[in-house]
Amino acid sequence: PLDMLGMVYRTIRQGLVDMDAMFALVDTPAEVVDAPGAPALAVRAGHVRFEDVHFGYEAERPILRGVDFEVKPGTTTAVVGPSGAGKSTCINLLQRLYDVDKGQVLIDGQPVTSVTQDSLRAALAVVPQEIVLFHRTIMENIRFARPEASDDDVFAAARAAHCHGFVSRLPQGYDTIVGERGTRLSGGQRQRIGIARAFLKDAPIIILDEATSALDTESEMEIQRALVEQMRDRTVIAVAHRLSTLSVFDRIIVMKGGRIVEDGTMRELMRRGGPFAAMW
Ligand code: ATP
Repeated sequence: PLDMLGMVYRTIRQGLVDMDAMFALVDTPAEVVDAPGAPALAVRAGHVRFEDVHFGYEAERPILRGVDFEVKPGTTTAVVGPSGAGKSTCINLLQRLYDVDKGQVLIDGQPVTSVTQDSLRAALAVVPQEIVLFHRTIMENIRFARPEASDDDVFAAARAAHCHGFVSRLPQGYDTIVGERGTRLSGGQRQRIGIARAFLKDAPIIILDEATSALDTESEMEIQRALVEQMRDRTVIAVAHRLSTLSVFDRIIVMKGGRIVEDGTMRELMRRGGPFAAMW
């Protein structure tokens, strides 16, 4: 009985310790909160504007120093620049994963800080650098973007993202379990699933953060073209790594050290002979 009592005592103690940790987590105040009575975002056209945005993840280390640009509805814009320039940070701010220190980010004239986060994120389809997959089937992983979508919608999105081919060749097809965080798929296959999710979500604003970096050049060109084609009447903002794929974009913004140093069409930038031409 003493042995038993010892075990029960230990189990209860451990339970209390775990509960403390859980409550501490639940009680952690969120850094980004909806303003009281915030309305839902009303997307009319998908106009994106950054107005003199200053931001740093830590107070003493500014990352963005006065970023100012606008993306007209229905156009495609690529953001390029050296590693650490702040490209992904702009995308994080557009999704309001963090709040800006100064300036504002607007969608159709509404500051992202003034609307509910749910409505903001519903208006954005994001293909991030790292696609997070759940340890479930491919079907469920794509459908995650829009849980009420029919099987046919999922197939159509998968076809558009060029992942129907490789999925159909798997012995269990769409019922294949992808492994913890998608480890049973290659980086390129995971990216295609991420792109299929974006197609399925069918949001008015699409954000691609190096969405095709894990693909070979040929597939990358093909998917980049499919993306721009499918997303014709949408606003597309893409962080691009490989300059070779930029010709499909209407406009290119060049960032360096947290600022925009150049901006224009690919042809203009090449002709100007500035930082973009040097990178090329
Ligand atoms: P890359 O092309 O390498 O992805 P990037 O231009 O997208 O680069 P960002 O990811 O925007 O660069 O990062 C800009 C700076 O912000 C970097 O110096 C980085 O160290 C810093 N940074 C990024 N995320 C965080 C974070 N969560 N906390 C603190 N600093 C961060």
